[in-house]
Amino acid sequence: MPGLFEGKKALITGGTGGIGSAIALAFAGEGCHITATGHTVEQVKGVSHSHSRIEVRILDVTDGDSIQSLVEVFDQLDILVNCAGTILRENREHNPPDFEKVIDVNLSGAMRMSTACRPMLARSQGCVLNVASMLSFFGSGFVPAYSASKGGLVQLTKSLAIAWADDHIRVNAIAPGWIETAMTQPLREDSIRHRAILDRTPMKRWGKPEDVAGAAVFLCSPQASFITGAILPVDGGYSCV
Ligand code: NAD
Repeated sequence: MPGLFEGKKALITGGTGGIGSAIALAFAGEGCHITATGHTVEQVKGVSHSHSRIEVRILDVTDGDSIQSLVEVFDQLDILVNCAGTILRENREHNPPDFEKVIDVNLSGAMRMSTACRPMLARSQGCVLNVASMLSFFGSGFVPAYSASKGGLVQLTKSLAIAWADDHIRVNAIAPGWIETAMTQPLREDSIRHRAILDRTPMKRWGKPEDVAGAAVFLCSPQASFITGAILPVDGGYSCV
């Protein structure tokens, strides 16, 4: 049986590990050809997946020229997944320059990528998927930039969904709960915060990157052809409580 994405091409930022890597593998399993980007040489060399339909590149989403150079080599693009993200812990995000850095990656980076890819997505009548967060909905005294960036990403998702509907480009987001990746390792090592997260999550476990990938496949597939501007939580029920 042909996959949902047979003959399609996708670009996944932050696609060399964690959630982005799981999305890349799930898309490849549906027949998609993927360009997955990582931020550093180490991330690209240490990529946690290997699949004949996944090609890996370095990209910094804060660098508009690099984005343009990458996008120019595509002859076709059907799906853009903005998964690149960063967080600065230990109260660093209360420092305005660090605040700006996080916004630049998580929010402005998604806008840069989406804008650069828009002409190709309009040609293919494709879609954008943004990776938001539980902190799109809740504040955080520890990571105010991360929370503001992910809240902004939800509003960017809805705004581009409206603005680009005439081009037949759908724009949606997933909002993962607490997922076991490198980004959350410090939380899982902190027994108090680890326990607090488990206690609040109705399904009583942390998510795995693969738990998020199915929602990404759905929102980017023809099964979601009349869905745009939606934010889908993938959180074991965390946001219901
Ligand atoms: P991760 O650290 O494995 O992934 C982060 C990715 O972002 C990396 O691949 C890195 O290369 C990329 N990145 C960072 N800065 C970049 C830059 N300047 N330019 C390009 N790429 C850059 O962690 P993850 O948990 O897989 O995170 C993936 C996405 O999921 C992020 O947007 C994160 O905010 C979001 N998220 C994660 C969780 C969770 O619990 N792990 C929850 C909600 C949302």
